[in-house]
Amino acid sequence: MSVTTLTKDSGCPQSGFDPLAWVDEELDRLERAALRRTLAVRGGAQTARVALDGTSLINFGSNDYLGLAADARLVVAAEAACRDHGWGSGASPLVSGRSAVHAELERRLAEFEGTEAALVFPSGFAANAGVIPALVDEPDAIFADAKNHASLIDGCRLSPARRFVYPHADCVALKTMLQSAGQFRRRLIVTDTLFSMDGDLAPLPRLAELAAAHGAMLLVDEAHATGVFGARGRGVVEHFAENGSAPFLEERVHVRIGTLSKALAGGGGFVCGRQSLIDWLANRARTYVFSTAQPAAISAAALAALDVVQQEPQRRVRLLATAAELRSRLREQGWNTGESASQIIPLFVGDAERTMGLAARLREAGFFVPGIRPPTVPEGESLLRLSLCAHHTPEMLDALLDALDTLR
Ligand code: PMP
Repeated sequence: MSVTTLTKDSGCPQSGFDPLAWVDEELDRLERAALRRTLAVRGGAQTARVALDGTSLINFGSNDYLGLAADARLVVAAEAACRDHGWGSGASPLVSGRSAVHAELERRLAEFEGTEAALVFPSGFAANAGVIPALVDEPDAIFADAKNHASLIDGCRLSPARRFVYPHADCVALKTMLQSAGQFRRRLIVTDTLFSMDGDLAPLPRLAELAAAHGAMLLVDEAHATGVFGARGRGVVEHFAENGSAPFLEERVHVRIGTLSKALAGGGGFVCGRQSLIDWLANRARTYVFSTAQPAAISAAALAALDVVQQEPQRRVRLLATAAELRSRLREQGWNTGESASQIIPLFVGDAERTMGLAARLREAGFFVPGIRPPTVPEGESLLRLSLCAHHTPEMLDALLDALDTLR
């Protein structure tokens, strides 16, 4: 980075020049392209209904998949932790911010995931942004799915390692890339397990085979799958491991990342794996080392959410069954739901303006269904994104299907 020092003779910008004028021009450009976003205000809690800017809507736009965001058990756990540990954590974990509640959450997460250890980060984004650069450096190579979440993309960008992006879920292309990457010191394959826009699953058994064949590390982000997939709710790795197609998959995934912010209904991210890996990350992941630990109350609520995941498997079983039924009814109506195999169901529309128009009409009809457009998805691939939660009733889903039928 070059640093310019202003001296007396450097000259000053003409008065009247606004160095931030470009921001207004760029916002106008977004507006004209129907790409400008505005902030909504939610009133009350996040449930199967949501009040946005004062309007109550049936909510297909949250990641609260198990319906725990307003669960009294999580609220009580957070309140109790506030009383015992105060609110703020006051420091980064390596200094004095890691309370007994954080330590217990890490122990429980490792137990839940069946790994030796776990580490809690301030957010899922921070976990991805911190873990990847701690694993690969200049002499190394990253192999990333083209549809990875922004936080994985940014984690990759924060590393000076050479980046190879393979077409979405294309293991043939990945194999070719790996074959030509023998000269790199370390190789790291990076993928979402459940893709956040398309709702489809990564080909994890094949990715694990390729990683093993090429001596690569395999890092997966289970953000949308934790608590939802797998007999114990561990995620898509467990889902594939248990259906017999990849019995040793859990051991072959080296780095498993998750969030506490979606099915677990709070905030924070985590990474789990073998003890030495976690020790290394606690020393070297910059978003862990240089960021304040989350308040203990948030960890306490996550512990209560883990209890629910373990004690009430029927929530995830029902959620995925409801999603399968809704997908088939949407397809019967003629909607393109792509390769979705989860509680995230995209309705592919294509054009950004048309997508936002459909989202607005659904809103008028009483439904919150986010329209997803660039830069979240590539140009021409805009979609309506339906996220299901355990609290949606059959009547709500029937009403949504009726509304969508009139919009086609
Ligand atoms: N990974 C994926 C796949 C995500 O979709 C998200 C959030 N949308 C994150 C990571 C970031 O998690 P958090 O919201 O906890 O920062």
